[in-house]
Amino acid sequence: MKKIITGITTTGTITLGNYIGAIKPMLDLQNDNEMFMFIADLHALVTPSDAKDLRLRISNASAIYFACGFDPKRTTVFIQSEVPAHTQLAWILNCHTTIGELSRMTQFKDKSAKKSSNGTETVPTGLLTYPTLMAADILLYDIDLVPVGKDQKQHIELTRNIATRMNNKYGKDLFTLPKEYTNDVTAKIMDLQDPTKKMSKSSDNQKSFISLLDKPEVARKKINSSVTDSENLIKYDPVNKPGVSNLITIYSALKNEKIDDVVKHFDGKNYGVLKSEVADVVCELLENIQTKFNTLVGTKELRDLLDRGKQRATEISNKKLKLINEKIGL
Ligand code: ATP
Ligand code: MG
Repeated sequence: MKKIITGITTTGTITLGNYIGAIKPMLDLQNDNEMFMFIADLHALVTPSDAKDLRLRISNASAIYFACGFDPKRTTVFIQSEVPAHTQLAWILNCHTTIGELSRMTQFKDKSAKKSSNGTETVPTGLLTYPTLMAADILLYDIDLVPVGKDQKQHIELTRNIATRMNNKYGKDLFTLPKEYTNDVTAKIMDLQDPTKKMSKSSDNQKSFISLLDKPEVARKKINSSVTDSENLIKYDPVNKPGVSNLITIYSALKNEKIDDVVKHFDGKNYGVLKSEVADVVCELLENIQTKFNTLVGTKELRDLLDRGKQRATEISNKKLKLINEKIGL
């Protein structure tokens, strides 16, 4: 039995990429492990938004988590900002991390380059330091495994480095060293309009991602208009045929079928058939999630479930923080 955690930032509505890269692997692990799943609202502050939007996204994300099938008996589901130990430990970790190692993070380099081509005047400090908050999210719960998409692997490595450094200084048993848990095939779902980029919920182009709250007919249109190539040959080749390969990956992940079997299934068929069958499996998923979502969102039942998660996460993390404070001399 392992301890496992993952979180999704509330920078937009949870996408099919988040579902396949983060939620589905968590659901698959739920029965045999001790699970923590949180709504990363503090991480979302790195991307400015107005209060009303943020509140709505937090509320939607909580209902989506349970609608996807997290069982409150097996998985502690909580809202990050409701558990203060996360920010408290993040400060301590910041003081044990260098600006050099944080500014080498690819996510920081990419996202800060987008915000500012000259200097750092418009780059929020949080964009540089959020990996230490992420390290706190993990280290507070003595986590063994973190299911993440490929984009986050480097941050798990950083978490291990900080933990090792502090274990060497304050005692080997201070932190458990976490490992990332990725599935190489499904770890990266690509943007529907530019399949060389990863699908992101914060993308400006609505057609580039499928949100779990998209109406099924809207999702179908997005898949039908997704960018492929002009060869009309269904083959799995992410380098030369990124659009087609992405559709194959989505189908394979949602049907739990091997890539080779999916390619065989579509052998000799055209892109129209591929898109229509991928849309069928995606729409089925969306309908299931949205039916449960609609019965839960904004209800007392949902708030009670979140309170249960908050209480359990607070207990565990406060205990850990107390130990850390003692070890480092606070
Ligand atoms: P943002 O654009 O705001 O960064 P995001 O869609 O990248 O949003 P995150 O909140 O950063 O979502 O990531 C949540 C989880 O989903 C992480 O584990 C991340 O690795 C995974 N994830 C994000 N995008 C994808 C994707 N396209 N394919 C597979 N997994 C993904
Ligand atoms: Mg991201």
